[in-house]
Amino acid sequence: MKLTRLSALALSLCAAASAKEPVITKETREENGQKAEYMFIDGIKVHEEDPAKQPQPEVVAPKPYDAAAAKAPEGATVLFDGTETTIGNWSSMNGEPTKWKLVDGAMESVRGAGYIRTKQEFGSCRLHIEFASPAKPEGSGQGRGNSGVFLMGQYEVQVLDSYENKTYPDGQCGALYGRNKPLVNASRPPGEWQTYDITFTRPLFDEAGKVTRKARFTVIHNGHVIHDDVELSGGTGWNGPHAATEYAKHADKGPISLQDHGNPVRFRNIWIQEIKE
Ligand code: MG
Repeated sequence: MKLTRLSALALSLCAAASAKEPVITKETREENGQKAEYMFIDGIKVHEEDPAKQPQPEVVAPKPYDAAAAKAPEGATVLFDGTETTIGNWSSMNGEPTKWKLVDGAMESVRGAGYIRTKQEFGSCRLHIEFASPAKPEGSGQGRGNSGVFLMGQYEVQVLDSYENKTYPDGQCGALYGRNKPLVNASRPPGEWQTYDITFTRPLFDEAGKVTRKARFTVIHNGHVIHDDVELSGGTGWNGPHAATEYAKHADKGPISLQDHGNPVRFRNIWIQEIKE
């Protein structure tokens, strides 16, 4: 039978889609008398540090800061622009005022102050956000310049000082934490402003709570595409040293939240455009 061009296209699209669907396996291992779940994505352990099994992304030169592209477009919702005298669009996760600080036109994470969240909630969106890890680097691995940008309050694009600071690739700067490492490492040195441009499509769930459409991410870090319309295979929450959380049904909208991981990471110029579906 001769395939029409359309059905050939449909078949190739199906092949592309299925090629992207990762195989996830789990096993329980005993460590120091404790049972821990290990998750493997396409055979690679979550938070694998062995470069023979999980290669480090190539280090590339960040592209120059594009002031025109970084400017909030007309109609965008500005979440922070540095002119604020209080962190008014954001609160602690419980709704109380946050103890994060305003420093030189930026919001700075304060150890022990907890995460912050936008008062407004969003679903699918395009988000621009700028961040800087501490100019004087302290700590190593996950302990250096750690924060995070969470879509819908839970899907984390990792923020980390990944400039000459190795960690497991699925937890380095730009990783969809525990799920997808960035395509390249486009990090700037500590203290320099960096950009994320995130296009996020929210997941959908059925009545029973089963995910019927997984979330998708395109992320541009300092001008480099580090996730190209990636389908997120599950949640990005911590579920032990080698496992990530699964999808759990939630509301259609959620806040943007930023992590206090104990390091004074700064954020500025944050704006968002909702994507109508
Ligand atoms: Mg983090």
